[in-house]
Amino acid sequence: MRDEVRAWALQARGFLAESEGMALYRLAAEASRRGPVVEIGSYCGKSALFLGEGCRSAGANPTFTVDHHRGNEEQRPGGPYFDPEMWDAETGTPRTLAELVGNIRHVGLEDWVVPVVGEATVVGRALPAGKLGLVFIDGGHSAADVAADVATWAPRIGRGGYLCMHDVYPDPADGGQAPLQAFTALRAERKWRFVELTGSLGVLQRR
Ligand code: MG
Repeated sequence: MRDEVRAWALQARGFLAESEGMALYRLAAEASRRGPVVEIGSYCGKSALFLGEGCRSAGANPTFTVDHHRGNEEQRPGGPYFDPEMWDAETGTPRTLAELVGNIRHVGLEDWVVPVVGEATVVGRALPAGKLGLVFIDGGHSAADVAADVATWAPRIGRGGYLCMHDVYPDPADGGQAPLQAFTALRAERKWRFVELTGSLGVLQRR
């Protein structure tokens, strides 16, 4: 990974440890040779820069990063991850899309990180099954949101492709349990092989 891209990604707004970012970079470099990479939940693009740089290094498919850019409950005023600098009080909307595009341009990854603005379930339903190289689920963290993202996107991953899920916390003291519960249920399915848990990044591979 280029040093300047890693440095920019690390200072970008968002919630991702360096070890998790480097795991995404490594997995995207491998998986993007097999099919496109999709991220659910762009926010300001911190993780998308790691994924996109992985895609760039392989030179095959890009990362599509999907977000409605209305902010999820946690990021809206009163939520635990509300950032006033990322909020336009006049319009009552986040500034995350402009920040995302700016971060992609800053590191020259325009051909490798493609923002998609919309509901992840709407976007996913329009795509064929079994074609994606990697899906990284990091959207809304309620049980309903996680379940909808898994139901929509898991079938779209091809053989040998990866399903990555963020904020998988085995200890409830560390965070909400919806991602862990969804991850554990998938892991018990025959078609998924457990690969790793790096920080709170859980990774499964489709057999
Ligand atoms: Mg997250």
